[in-house]
Amino acid sequence: MTTLGHFIDGRPILNGQHSQAVFNPATGTSEKQVLLATKATVEDAILAAQQAYPEWRNTPPIKRARIMYKFKTLLEENADKICRLIGEEHGKIAHDAMGELQRGIENVEYACGVPELLKGEHSKNVGPNIDSWSEFQPLGVVAGITPFNFPVMVPLWMFPMAIATGNTFVLKPSERDPSSTLFIAELLHQAGLPKGVLNVVNGGKEAVDTLLHDQRVKAVSFVGSTPIAEYIYQTATANGKRCQALGGAKNHAIVMPDADMESTVNQLLGAAFGSSGERCMALSVVVAVGDEAADKLVSGLSQAMQPLKVGTYSDNQNDFGPVITKQHQEKVIGYINSAEQDGAHVVVDGRQVKVEGYEDGYFVGATLIDRVSKEMQSYQEEIFGPVLQVLRVASMEEAMTLINEHEYGNGTCIFTRDGEAARYFSDHIEVGMVGINVPLPVPVAYHSFGGWKRSLFGDLHAYGPDSVRFYTKRKTITQRWPSAGVREGVSFSMPTMK
Ligand code: NAD
Repeated sequence: MTTLGHFIDGRPILNGQHSQAVFNPATGTSEKQVLLATKATVEDAILAAQQAYPEWRNTPPIKRARIMYKFKTLLEENADKICRLIGEEHGKIAHDAMGELQRGIENVEYACGVPELLKGEHSKNVGPNIDSWSEFQPLGVVAGITPFNFPVMVPLWMFPMAIATGNTFVLKPSERDPSSTLFIAELLHQAGLPKGVLNVVNGGKEAVDTLLHDQRVKAVSFVGSTPIAEYIYQTATANGKRCQALGGAKNHAIVMPDADMESTVNQLLGAAFGSSGERCMALSVVVAVGDEAADKLVSGLSQAMQPLKVGTYSDNQNDFGPVITKQHQEKVIGYINSAEQDGAHVVVDGRQVKVEGYEDGYFVGATLIDRVSKEMQSYQEEIFGPVLQVLRVASMEEAMTLINEHEYGNGTCIFTRDGEAARYFSDHIEVGMVGINVPLPVPVAYHSFGGWKRSLFGDLHAYGPDSVRFYTKRKTITQRWPSAGVREGVSFSMPTMK
């Protein structure tokens, strides 16, 4: 049994009164356990971050960027090991894990530009011999709390930019698949990061609550499910912290009658079933406009889904792997049952799928459900599994109303050949990330990522330009030197340049 602990002040720490088993979702067995940090352990991590802050804050940005550059190289050199760790604990197949890592690395690449990104704004002569400028200073100790479904990419949304901008960091990854996250933290230290600048604590609610209540933590980035995101946002802000909390999703694609149906079907497959649908940007609902389009779509999808293979991460012939836990497998199957009981038609049924040699794995096969309606629980809630539901509507307006009325607003997409319709859609849809014939419109690292409505609590989105602003505070300095020769008299009026 391997025991996983924490990484505090530059070294691995095995501390914790309680532990939790870490499962391999493909086999349903556990050979690892993770220690759950107590309040005291989290406070050790916060203290290490606090002590490392003064020196790190004053380290020139170019030196911080060089460490990030070396980190990027180490991530690339260790890609196979990182992806194996992801596969063993998350279950996603190797090429999908490689995609996750690559998307993460792109955030490190963006953070390498920090000297340019931290350049302030300067105005000369805002008054007689007076110059004014704004600079962006780090916040201090900041924290990140991340979900199971991207154990490498989502932490890389957070700590590279937080650290590159001069903060020190405490990361609380998901306790369900912590190994790859711990390993990349070690790699950053191999790249030359001073001790205490990045600390990783594994744990559950006690660890999170310590981060939320400790006055030394100035900001919290969270990614996970909506109920927890809302709790994190309310608690962190009530404790005076800056907070961005990204939550769950129900991502709809509208398929217009004029869409290129073959290409649409191909694109929907990857977007709905990739990573077993355990992506916050997975497309889980298709809204077909008109019965003719719906019939073509359902028949195209059901044929295209026949050869899809579910299996283990190490076989790249597989299209996707198991879901994360037995409990989650039961939950996903429960949603398929409830849709059926509510009168929807299960066209392709993944409930009975078995993978030879892995009979205890948490597999769910690709599932297609037609004639779903907006009152059904399976439509209203996030399933987070390989389940694609089809709703039939009469017009694009009706489809857009459905999307706009849904509590989530993370991602959406329209498939059409009509530029005018696409433009109207992107202009009026109440969703944060929009695709036009692009089913997974996950912004690249130099844009920012975030949903609307109950998919994000807070103002600034994750990574990209918003992350530079999230992890820094603006200071504006206005300066005059008496030696400039101008002597001002006393004035009690508001200074102006009139
Ligand atoms: P989760 O909310 O269960 O857990 C996320 C983090 O919160 C974990 O670190 C966990 O330990 C912690 N946590 C869980 N319960 C807690 C509690 N009661 N108090 C304090 N902390 C708690 O989410 P998950 O199951 O790991 O991840 C899947 C969810 O994340 C899905 O809803 C998915 O849509 C969402 N997600 C959203 C985005 C996005 O960018 N919007 C990205 C990835 C995942």
